[in-house]
Amino acid sequence: MGLLSQGTPLDWTESRLLNEHVRKNGIEQLLSIFAQHQSRKQDPFLWGDEVEYMLVDVDDEHHTAKLSIDHDHVLDTLNDPLKLLPLALHHNVTFHPEYGRYMLEGTPAKPYDGQSLADYSYVEENMRMRRVISELELPKHIVPLTLTTFPRMGCPGFTSPNALPIGPALQSLFLPDEIINRHVRFPTLTANIRKRRGSKVAINLPMYPDKNTKLLDDSIVKRDLFKSDREPFLGASIPGHVYMDSMGFGMGLSCLQVTMQPCDIDESRYLYDMLAPLTPLMLSLSAAAPIFKGYLVNQDVRWNVISGLVDDRTFVERGVEPFEGYHLFGGLDVDHHHPCIVGDCDSSLVGKDGTLACNVCTRDGQPVRRIPKSRYDLIDLYLGGSKDFLPAYNDIEPPINASVLKKLLENGIDEPLARHFAHLFVRDPLVVFSEREHQDNSLDNDHFENLQLTNWQTLRFKPPAPKPEGMADATNVGPGWRVEFRPMEIQLTDFENAAYLAFVVLVSRAIIMFKPNWYIPISKIESNMKTAHKVDLAIKDKFWFKLMDHWDLNVDDFQGYDFSWFDRYCNDGNDEMKGCVYLKGLGRERECTGQIQLNNINDSDCGGQFHRYTAHQLVNGTLDFPGLILLVIRVVATDLVNEESTHHCSSQTVQRELQQLKHYLMLISQRASGEIPTTARWLRDYVLRSDQYNQDLKVNDELNYRLVKRAQKVSEMDPEAIKEFLGDTVGGFMNAKPKGEAGLQMNGHK
Ligand code: ADP
Ligand code: MG
Ligand code: MG
Ligand code: MG
Repeated sequence: MGLLSQGTPLDWTESRLLNEHVRKNGIEQLLSIFAQHQSRKQDPFLWGDEVEYMLVDVDDEHHTAKLSIDHDHVLDTLNDPLKLLPLALHHNVTFHPEYGRYMLEGTPAKPYDGQSLADYSYVEENMRMRRVISELELPKHIVPLTLTTFPRMGCPGFTSPNALPIGPALQSLFLPDEIINRHVRFPTLTANIRKRRGSKVAINLPMYPDKNTKLLDDSIVKRDLFKSDREPFLGASIPGHVYMDSMGFGMGLSCLQVTMQPCDIDESRYLYDMLAPLTPLMLSLSAAAPIFKGYLVNQDVRWNVISGLVDDRTFVERGVEPFEGYHLFGGLDVDHHHPCIVGDCDSSLVGKDGTLACNVCTRDGQPVRRIPKSRYDLIDLYLGGSKDFLPAYNDIEPPINASVLKKLLENGIDEPLARHFAHLFVRDPLVVFSEREHQDNSLDNDHFENLQLTNWQTLRFKPPAPKPEGMADATNVGPGWRVEFRPMEIQLTDFENAAYLAFVVLVSRAIIMFKPNWYIPISKIESNMKTAHKVDLAIKDKFWFKLMDHWDLNVDDFQGYDFSWFDRYCNDGNDEMKGCVYLKGLGRERECTGQIQLNNINDSDCGGQFHRYTAHQLVNGTLDFPGLILLVIRVVATDLVNEESTHHCSSQTVQRELQQLKHYLMLISQRASGEIPTTARWLRDYVLRSDQYNQDLKVNDELNYRLVKRAQKVSEMDPEAIKEFLGDTVGGFMNAKPKGEAGLQMNGHK
């Protein structure tokens, strides 16, 4: 979570008067950052993760599991220099606030080294320490769990202690305001999104069809506390769907993010672009969200939920008719005496295609127009940092802030990069602190970050911070140009989370080393993102990707870099092979079966340049093309260990680290092939098989308790639960690993 300024956050009606001020100065700040850092080179490849935890109060006597909303003081203790902060820093961990009062975010204090093999296993140890240290100050019954969704969030009595859904910030029929972080930024953010939008946020998820499914969300109650209470009856709730009505249901979900620092701005832009087509794939491989508000839903992931629930667009911006008695322009500062605006909710102004019939501007001069996407969504534009980029790949033409574009182009920023920022700057700032209105644009970046950090997209291009005063001539000060990968759902165990991170970071290393061309039109990624929500998508459907023959890779370079490489490199016994190289000359050995080339005519587009592949094909390769795993193993072999210079691996430490990495990759490989269920499938099956389940989609209190207990067992690495969930190979490896008392006596990192 970004900056938590101290001070007075402005209510929407005041803060909207500063929209243009924040944008204008934000762009000045960005230009100053460009002037200071554009030519910065040779940063080391660093990376760091973010894990979000939910504090769950597990009561074994009464068989309940609830979100704990009165232990958030633990964050203060963890950040207090006189209490747990020194211990946390000694173990290289830090804790940050998140939207939910029941949430913690944990990160490494210092980022990891992308070229150090040891750091790819150290991340799991770092995560284990986060659990150990955060639990020091918590009673035994309050457990930090890495659940993407809390199954009964929004059901009566789901918090501990109990709180009523009557708060003015959320105005929710289901969630109390007491779930929101106490820092003033969060309730203000919540209320300002609603005020700008001109109605409550809403998302409707299709119900999972089961024998006794009544296509009715019977948790919606009639109430007369706020004007917004009428909204579900005016069209905000859709029959056959589970209706959620407030930001907490979205920002209160947990996810797994990773930030990486390539060597300079060009490499960062290229990495960003190549990661874009992987975002839907990794979302569905990490799927962990089949239950919302106590109902099984007919989708597996959280993305559209959070996207819908922080969507501040007005009716007119979304291109929909306002509810009766609501205003088309929501909370925009438009001149209501404008000749076009006749009534209070003048939907006659909107044509059938959603465009406005006349030009209306806000009082600060911004055009009112359709904005196709929520500010939490898939990226809209490639950054175009490579020779393979063609403007035609940016084929969806998102709205652009024309004056920002002009300013950036005039100052020498190239077109694709200028368009990226000019698109982010069509949004309004959501929280402005009155004390932070005036800033020194060469030393501060709050105005820029205000918009940057509330464009919550699948990827984030993170520029460096301004250089501190007096350091104008210093080079490579502070973090460099970074890319954040944001779509993944959180997994139950540290092992799985480490595995997803290692995979994404090593794929990124492979991108930088092998320079593949994975550009496909953004519209195709959009279509992938929609399908990524489906139940079991990873094994049942396909993703658009660049036809493998067009990746610009030499297939022969990857010969032999399959899972057997790890054993050949680690074990003595193959020394007599030609040239002491353990790979080359070996036939392609595949541990994963079932590579089928599906040649359906509908799987090809643009003369076959783009093709639809299963996750299995993309990750594990096809009979005649390497998949992502082979690319990654070659990076391990040539970048993390130097296979050419040693005979075989003689270090037991390196062998252990490689075995761990191998099993991380096997987890991803087997999730892609369907051999290991996604967390979503595992949770769904648990519900469907439970004797507490009445085939009516509902997860009752007892079932919620059992599910949480089972998840807790998994995250605590109970051998039986691990084996049942992750199977013989990966689960067996996890169980065989020495448990290592996660004692605080262990040495700090490095
Ligand atoms: P945000 O919430 O804005 O995404 P955070 O500060 O919470 O950012 O964390 C981002 C992650 O980036 C952390 O794991 C942190 O360790 C890591 N990180 C810090 N500096 C760098 C760097 N120079 N390069 C890559 N990662 C970094
Ligand atoms: Mg976070
Ligand atoms: Mg963070
Ligand atoms: Mg982040």
